[in-house]
Amino acid sequence: MNPLSSIESGLIHAAGALLSRRGTRASLLVLIYHRVLPSPDPMLPSEPDAATFARHMDLLAENFTVLPLRDGVARLRQGSLPARTACITFDDGYANNFTVATPILRERSLPATVFVAPGYLDGGCMFNDMIFEACRTAPEQVDLGPLGLGELALTDAAARIRAAQHIVDQWKYLPREERRKRAEQLAAHVGAAPNTGLMMTAQQVAQLPALGIEIGAHTLTHPILSRLPVDEARDEIVGSRQRLEEITGQPILSFAYPNGRPHRDYAREHVAIVREAGFELAVSTSWGAATARSDPFQIPRIAPWDKTPLRYAARMVNAYREREFVCV
Ligand SMILES: [Zn+2]
Repeated sequence: MNPLSSIESGLIHAAGALLSRRGTRASLLVLIYHRVLPSPDPMLPSEPDAATFARHMDLLAENFTVLPLRDGVARLRQGSLPARTACITFDDGYANNFTVATPILRERSLPATVFVAPGYLDGGCMFNDMIFEACRTAPEQVDLGPLGLGELALTDAAARIRAAQHIVDQWKYLPREERRKRAEQLAAHVGAAPNTGLMMTAQQVAQLPALGIEIGAHTLTHPILSRLPVDEARDEIVGSRQRLEEITGQPILSFAYPNGRPHRDYAREHVAIVREAGFELAVSTSWGAATARSDPFQIPRIAPWDKTPLRYAARMVNAYREREFVCV
């Protein structure tokens, strides 16, 4: 073990022992991932590659009790959670959750939950990923005036990431058909081919429960729920549950709100729909550790990963202090 690794490990352990209490005073860390890349991708610097993810999982396995999400939330509510307990989640249903992350989790016997938007299985691509792929392959100088975006100078990876993130931010809250249409126009304009291998196949999703991975629902097409008429939001929530139950042959009991920010991305009525649809729990992207007082239908999550191990360890520890989180 190198010195930095023992420092980070010691830091987590010591602070965790102080800050993470067990039983009725316990708090639960729910970690959020999206992709786990087979190798580093300059366009996706915040997504871990396989080696980095394996290191995260080693740290978790050495320092935390890692429980399946539903067990973690149930024991939090019962007041029987061990100290330093974490749960691992993935959002959206990327194929590399199956091909890259699952083998790493299985090697360490770590459970996880993957929240899938089944509308993109078998060759689909979410609008934000279409934009990133377009900005990856676009020429260095590109005139996006016809799309209302002006001239872009995409001279290096950093400029391409900035452009892609800017466009995603500009279009994210448009009606979902409109943002999809614009992303397709952008891809066609720069000659980017659709990436049909990005998300899992239904067959891969069906295999995950037997590999120790719970499947959770994440709506059908990943809309911002608060921007939809409530009936459409209900169809998205309930429809994703039904479709994933058909695929897996198992009850789907966990839900993740797309984008997941309370008030901005979902509201009280969506929490009620999720509860009435028969889910056991739901997770948001509100930042923090969950406590016994947390709404089980708005469990906060954290993404503590950082470039340097020490900052990562410090973020993880800090999450225990951030017990005040937002609910609708
Ligand atoms: Zn998502």
